[in-house]
Amino acid sequence: MAKPAILTVDDDPAVSRAVARDLRKQYAQDYRIIRADSGQEALDALKELKLRGEQVAVLLADYRMPNMTGLQFLEEAMDLFPRARRVLLTAYADTDAAIQAINVVDLDHYLLKPWHPPEEKLYPVMDAMLEAWKAAPDRPVADVKIVGHRWSAPSFKVRDFLARNMVSYRWYTTDDAEGQRLLTAAGLTEADVPLVVTAEGKTMVAPTEAELAVQVGLTTTPASDFYDLVVVGGGPAGLGAAVYGASEGLRTVLLEERATGGQAGQSSRIENYLGFPDGVSGAQLTDRARRQAVKFGAELLTACRVTRLAVEGSARVLHFEDGTTIAAHSVILATGVSYRRLTAPGLEQFHGRGVYYGSASTEAPSCSDQDVYIVGGANSAGQAAMFFSRYARRVHLVIRAPNLNASMSRYLIQQIASVPTIEVHPCTEIIGADGDEHLERLTLRSMDGSGERTVDSSWLFIFIGAEPRTDWLDGVVQRDARGFVLTGPDVESGADHAALGRDPYHLECSVPGVFAAGDVRADSVKRVASAVGEGAMAVSLVHRYLVEGQ
Ligand SMILES: Cc1cc2nc3c(=O)[nH]c(=O)nc-3n(C[C@H](O)[C@H](O)[C@H](O)COP(=O)(O)OP(=O)(O)OC[C@H]3O[C@@H](n4cnc5c(N)ncnc54)[C@H](O)[C@@H]3O)c2cc1C
Repeated sequence: MAKPAILTVDDDPAVSRAVARDLRKQYAQDYRIIRADSGQEALDALKELKLRGEQVAVLLADYRMPNMTGLQFLEEAMDLFPRARRVLLTAYADTDAAIQAINVVDLDHYLLKPWHPPEEKLYPVMDAMLEAWKAAPDRPVADVKIVGHRWSAPSFKVRDFLARNMVSYRWYTTDDAEGQRLLTAAGLTEADVPLVVTAEGKTMVAPTEAELAVQVGLTTTPASDFYDLVVVGGGPAGLGAAVYGASEGLRTVLLEERATGGQAGQSSRIENYLGFPDGVSGAQLTDRARRQAVKFGAELLTACRVTRLAVEGSARVLHFEDGTTIAAHSVILATGVSYRRLTAPGLEQFHGRGVYYGSASTEAPSCSDQDVYIVGGANSAGQAAMFFSRYARRVHLVIRAPNLNASMSRYLIQQIASVPTIEVHPCTEIIGADGDEHLERLTLRSMDGSGERTVDSSWLFIFIGAEPRTDWLDGVVQRDARGFVLTGPDVESGADHAALGRDPYHLECSVPGVFAAGDVRADSVKRVASAVGEGAMAVSLVHRYLVEGQ
């Protein structure tokens, strides 16, 4: 973190230099001395410091400056750094004005010019100012900063993207004083949110995920245009494939649309994955897997949505949204599944403003002491119920089935039963949502015919059945009626493999050299362990393909 700043502003360059010189002599070891020759220049410097999340300890401003007086400057500076101590430099003739200003701009001190010798006249005042500031400093913020509306889908999207990519950030609503200060420093208004300020102080208004990824330091472009193996999708299957591919010497790149970890990355606690008897959060597992893949030399790219697969001779070419391409000898499709949308009147309009698909852990602290509704009866919903029960007053698990037995693991059913604040609503469905700026009410219907009721809630998390998003493979790779990718013996015999004189390998698709692993594969077991296993197994089949299968 940079040292806190002491800023001095005087329109007389000689005086300005002299103040800065005396301050440097005494304080340069612990503070950065910044000098400006006008109020506007000083304000611009302060805005930059605010955006970079740095601290300002003391402001010294000359009283008489053209265009912007010292008092005007200090007043505006207070909007950016209210905790900075404020000192006015005045000539003897201006003493009265300075005394009056003590109330106007909450001045801490005024210093008569000249201040020589500084040991007597300047440093004792500065020491007192710095002591006072140190007792109540503003905190430095080295993280990315986001300013947005509490109930805004674009603001949620930005926070969710950063959280899933494990980029730490500070979140300020437009109602927060610090949020307002950042908007002021960026020269923006509440209409311009979400505002993202990088750790270096660069500002972005409503950035796309790709822009955001670049600015927060995630890798988004490949280092090469040809690889041995391209893995599409960064969930457990994709990460597994990247680890095994790279560790076995294949030039491997993994392309992920949003954030590595996939569905598993959203899990608050995975308890049935081998080697973690006390459970592991999806975020931890993802972080380890990422580091492992990178350690072996795999490239991991984020914010890379693949939109087309083409076969060009022996090359498999993947097209991105922006029109660029990447090619490889082989491809592993590990694009998993996404949650199905719940279609009830009103729900769609509150997506990101009270209605969320998946866990949305960024929202958990805001749920404290409120009623949270979760839809879904599988393990993902059960984990979410356990997770939100740590924050919410009451968690309502809404399921259409008469009980959880058929869809949820036994250990989770037991855990849920042991938490008194979780209530399961069997044979129930959500049939409507209502609210003004954000979700405020839900309508529930009992499927046993006992009627409908409306409940107050601002939080609905949906975990219903998942479906693959594989439209982009249309006409290239065989899929089943629901869009899951067919592999091995399920592939209907085609000309491509016939020409090679062999059947598709076990995880190989209808296109030779293209494999599928994890949830996206037809008839796969929808589990972390099986996805990781299939990722590893697909790599061994890639080797076989490269050696003898082409
Ligand atoms: C909340 C939750 C909790 C769970 N808990 C458990 C548990 O406790 N135990 C367990 O065994 N299983 C659990 N599961 C299931 C498990 O997470 C999945 O089976 C597993 O993540 C599947 O891995 P995958 O790599 O096949 O797909 P996914 O995890 O779905 O990952 C696919 C990835 O591909 C990316 N992608 C998709 N399309 C594209 C494209 N066109 N271009 C680039 N990237 C793309 C996606 O963004 C995603 O990151 C849970 C699931 C959820 C949602």
